[in-house]
Amino acid sequence: METGKLTIAQIQAGLRSKQFSAVELAESALAFAEAENPKTNAYLLLAADRALASARRVDAKLSAGEDPGPLAGVPTGIKDVIVTKGLRTTCGSKLLEKFVPPYDATAVARIENAGGVLLGKLNCDEFAMGSSNENSAFGPVRNPAAPDRVPGGSSGGSAAAVAQGTAVVALGSDTGGSIRQPASFCGVVGVTPTYGRVSRYGLVAFASSLDHIGPLARNVDDAATLLGVIAGRDPMDSTSAFAPVQDYRAAMHLPVRGMKIGLPKEYFEGLTSDTRLQIEKGVRLLRQEGCEVLEVSLPHTPYAIACYYIICTAEASSNLARYDGVKYTIRSSRAQTLQDMYRMTRGEGFGAECKRRIMLGTYVLSAGYYDAYYLKAQKVRALIARDFERAFETVDALVTPVSPFPAFKLGEKLDDPIQMYLSDIYTITGSLAGIPCMSVPCGATSEGLPVGMQILTRHFDEPGMFRLAAHFERAGGFTL
Ligand code: GLN
Repeated sequence: METGKLTIAQIQAGLRSKQFSAVELAESALAFAEAENPKTNAYLLLAADRALASARRVDAKLSAGEDPGPLAGVPTGIKDVIVTKGLRTTCGSKLLEKFVPPYDATAVARIENAGGVLLGKLNCDEFAMGSSNENSAFGPVRNPAAPDRVPGGSSGGSAAAVAQGTAVVALGSDTGGSIRQPASFCGVVGVTPTYGRVSRYGLVAFASSLDHIGPLARNVDDAATLLGVIAGRDPMDSTSAFAPVQDYRAAMHLPVRGMKIGLPKEYFEGLTSDTRLQIEKGVRLLRQEGCEVLEVSLPHTPYAIACYYIICTAEASSNLARYDGVKYTIRSSRAQTLQDMYRMTRGEGFGAECKRRIMLGTYVLSAGYYDAYYLKAQKVRALIARDFERAFETVDALVTPVSPFPAFKLGEKLDDPIQMYLSDIYTITGSLAGIPCMSVPCGATSEGLPVGMQILTRHFDEPGMFRLAAHFERAGGFTL
């Protein structure tokens, strides 16, 4: 069976018409992932026993005439910053190379309750810090569209697995662009929902006020189905929203004629001409479909990167303090004293990017600098959020590029953190504002590198976002 291209809807139809069983599907998906993985290094672990156990439950329900759930039999990959009971969860870090969590993240539990088959854990930048997946302690991931290039990051493994067909869908996490940017680099759909829409329980914290879990998929329908399963209030995460979960798939069929689309002028500066060309074609397509396109301004955009790297490093320096050699982590074997154990474990275990961020974050939070940096960044964050509120007074959605450039070569930006940080210039603002945003495939550059178009809407207007994305996809956005 060809598992590499299946959609969720095809799997549901295939199971119900007895074309294949969930166990057969899981077996072939596992074999395919094992055979293909050396090309990308997307999977850090394949969970054969767990996948087959889930598949057997689905088959049992089907033969008992029960509803096995909307994700029945769907081979799903999980970014390795999301905890899985009894399955090693490394966060791409040497520190956690032996960490086996005692519980499942809420999103994982919901996927399995909906019949999903957890295939394995996916590579990522260490503690989700990075834009290229090169900060993983377990080696970089290669882009399936161009093996000498990065898949983007930090959810590089999730995007690569979905693009490669070794997962039908995957969970990623996004703090400043880590779902959308790799989705755009690999040519798949990536969704960052409204902050609080999906429970963070079991997502290893990087920057808690910015962290989101969201789906990656090969089409908008699959992303909408997966989000529908994982979204919703969770008593285990006090920041998860009470708002009822809307029917995202139903929204995909509403017409877009008359929808007002804003193009923020600040997002069309400094991008490569190839990327610009594709996004302009995408916008033209939306116009042809009857959308009204207006130029808008988000004037605080130039401050977003600085603001983000103060807030996220501040939060990271606090969140990463727990990895001290006492619990969770490996422990330095050289340490003789308690102080040495802390210093040596952290010194040996964290990679360079994490250390850089811990130092920066500690600095911006320190007495004397707190007001100058951290407090000011919080104020700028509020201004960025207000820019979006103002824009949404006149438009229903914003459309922008996801990244100023397509997938770059492995190693190309490794020695220049600032260049790397600039990859996220168009995604960070949406994360800071906590609004729903997604990347949809928007053709490719002349070199054949995928380009993603970003759609952003008001808080909790995931239906509006899916409506536009699905329409764009149907109208041929993929193949421009
Ligand atoms: N690339 C950004 C960073 O390095 C975003 C990461 C993320 O969204 N997790 O922080």
